[in-house]
Amino acid sequence: MPELPEVETIVRGLARAVSGRRIAEVRVEMAGSVVNDLPGDFAETLRGERIESVTRRAKFVVMRLGSGRALTVHLRMTGRLIVEAQPQEDAYSRLRLRFEDGGWLRFSDVRRFGRVRLTADGAWAAGLGPEPLDPAFTPEALRGLLEGRRTPIKSLLLDQSRLAGVGNIYACEALYLAGIHPKRRAGGLSKARVERLHAALIRVLGRAIRMRGSSIDDYVDAEGLRGGFQNTLAVYGREGLSCRRCHAPIKRVTLAQRGTFYCPRCQR
Ligand SMILES: [Zn+2]
Repeated sequence: MPELPEVETIVRGLARAVSGRRIAEVRVEMAGSVVNDLPGDFAETLRGERIESVTRRAKFVVMRLGSGRALTVHLRMTGRLIVEAQPQEDAYSRLRLRFEDGGWLRFSDVRRFGRVRLTADGAWAAGLGPEPLDPAFTPEALRGLLEGRRTPIKSLLLDQSRLAGVGNIYACEALYLAGIHPKRRAGGLSKARVERLHAALIRVLGRAIRMRGSSIDDYVDAEGLRGGFQNTLAVYGREGLSCRRCHAPIKRVTLAQRGTFYCPRCQR
């Protein structure tokens, strides 16, 4: 599933490719993949709109439209947004937009969990926690989120209502970098450890964005390029392999139904 760095990479590519372009034609190829919060038909309502900007909120791609409305995409497991000069054959295509100046945007989704939603103001992405890369997200802000919480720190990092955009890969990697055991009680971390975790989150996410995300499954960005961060993972997906720091074998446990990887010696 694309996490913050992958969605950020997709958004940067899309912003370059589709900002300022007007939608001339809307082809809904699978009705269940689109949701319309506005009165009327999805295609009819969207046609003629200009895409003003493309931004990211958590793991959502938010395209602001000329009318002030928003077209928000949640890629979920296998959703992809592809910019192309000509519409390509694709059995998994769910929605295609043709722009006035030629060129297409295709939403393709093998597993069909992804959604494209038309809303009055982009409110779909409401109820989410702060963005970890926002300057307002300080070590004190993280401490405030953790305070009094009895959940394991790893599970709390995945809770989108607490912190937006961090998924399984980057939670595992940040906890390794900070030297914190994933099962530690969130509220029980010392001030120094919270500061280390804060720095680790920002460092891991920033590095992953610079490397254009992780291509663990079939993730590619809007330009069809694979990410590079998967080659530098310290713990995620490395069960039984030796820790890059201490050479102990990496362990895997299940926490809140998610495979969790850590070094039993480096993470306490
Ligand atoms: Zn280690």
